Amino acid sequence: MSYVDEIIAMVVEKNPGEPEFHQTVKEVLESLRNVVEKNEERYRKDALLERLVNPERQVIFRVPWIDDQGRVQVNTGYRIQFNSAIGPYKGGIRFHPSVNTGIIKFLGFEQIFKNSLTGLPIGGGKGGSDFDPKGKSDREVMVFCQSFITELYKYLGANIDVPAGDIGTGAREIGYMYGQFKRITSSYEGVLTGKGLSYGGSLARKEATGYGIIYFAAEMLRCNNSDIKGKTVSISGSGNVAIYAIEKTIQLGGKPVTCSDSNGWIYDPEGIDVELLKEIKEVKRARLTEYAAARPSAEYHEGKGVWSVKVDIAIPCATQNELQMEDAKQLVANGCFAVVEGSNMPTTLEATEYLQEKGILFAPSKAANAGGVAVSALEMSQNSERLSWSFEEVDGRLQKIMVDIFHNLDDAAREYGMEGNYAAGANIAGFLKVADAMLAQGIV
Ligand code: NDP
Repeated sequence: MSYVDEIIAMVVEKNPGEPEFHQTVKEVLESLRNVVEKNEERYRKDALLERLVNPERQVIFRVPWIDDQGRVQVNTGYRIQFNSAIGPYKGGIRFHPSVNTGIIKFLGFEQIFKNSLTGLPIGGGKGGSDFDPKGKSDREVMVFCQSFITELYKYLGANIDVPAGDIGTGAREIGYMYGQFKRITSSYEGVLTGKGLSYGGSLARKEATGYGIIYFAAEMLRCNNSDIKGKTVSISGSGNVAIYAIEKTIQLGGKPVTCSDSNGWIYDPEGIDVELLKEIKEVKRARLTEYAAARPSAEYHEGKGVWSVKVDIAIPCATQNELQMEDAKQLVANGCFAVVEGSNMPTTLEATEYLQEKGILFAPSKAANAGGVAVSALEMSQNSERLSWSFEEVDGRLQKIMVDIFHNLDDAAREYGMEGNYAAGANIAGFLKVADAMLAQGIV
């Protein structure tokens, strides 16, 4: 059995009931086959792959809190510090009822390569809880966040582990966690990113993931003799990532015609009204039915269906495995020519293979959505300097980082004989830097 196959089998055996983690390990290691074969002796000697797929540390803890009725509630908290070879652990905190060890492990594993691709000195980690902020009062969200950080603070620090937001964790939750960290430790340090502007946050962090996805897409299209201008785009989700991907698409002359939440989806042939969407999602925290009620051109549909719309480009921005084989077939049949992954691992393995076989330009999430963590790292730099950069400066750096990421993975794919396979290129480019640092640092 090859080294790669041995490790995949070991991961499946040692991590039962964690299909998302198996999925990402398979996807990454399959595309590293050529690289591993070239360096097999050295990698085996240092058990490089065994160490890569085993997190450096996993913390799982109880999060007790009291709801508005005075009842005690108990959730589970997670932080997986996966790999610190190239910098302190960095990765978001997800608050969603679906969170479990396997989901956090999959996200943490992806984060290692994504962070490496940014070219910035950040290691990979991820955390979260099965807590659902939806429908909770501000007080309930605050006491939950305080309880969560009261345990987790022991493992965090500006040079140790710096979490950020993710699904269900926005500026409000980051603010509550930051306040509690400061209260417990008496330390004013850049221990979380995505902070408010008045206490160490970075301009353009809120926009970074969504804008970065579109900067990446624009460069990929440019290098394939195309352009986002004039193209119809379907986007799923209506959270932080989706909203700013929609906004940048419009700014670059594209037309986003869909968005969704976990109840249903919108088709707006006139193009999504992003200001209305922001008002509904960021200010009122309401459902998409309100968008349709306020906008005569829009249709609201219950359930799933975003990928049934005829578009040129599809950009999933909601959650993992949201684009499946049937969706991929429908997109191809409708003439879609590019899929850009905004959410983490939104496309199933078989749908990814199908899209690649059909010659669809396919941008993997660990590259396309790396703008969020990149600007988080820029927030860390500003905190260390005790300075704040202008929006233009941060946005300019973000744009350059996304263009560099595209060329980095495009070059890696060519070098290993997989021209145009951007998913493989991203894995190879991200892996090589981490592997080099791990080998240099000895058996740790
Ligand atoms: P938000 O919580 O702001 O928004 C998530 C959106 O996706 C909401 O519209 C939500 O609908 C929908 N959604 C979530 N889970 C499901 C589900 N199971 N089925 C259908 N719809 C769902 O999260 P973000 O926008 O921050 O994150 C979106 C994706 O992008 C995630 O994969 C995240 O890991 C990834 N990402 C985020 C980064 C960031 O900077 N925020 C950085 C890099 C990646 P509803 O409101 O109804 O739940």
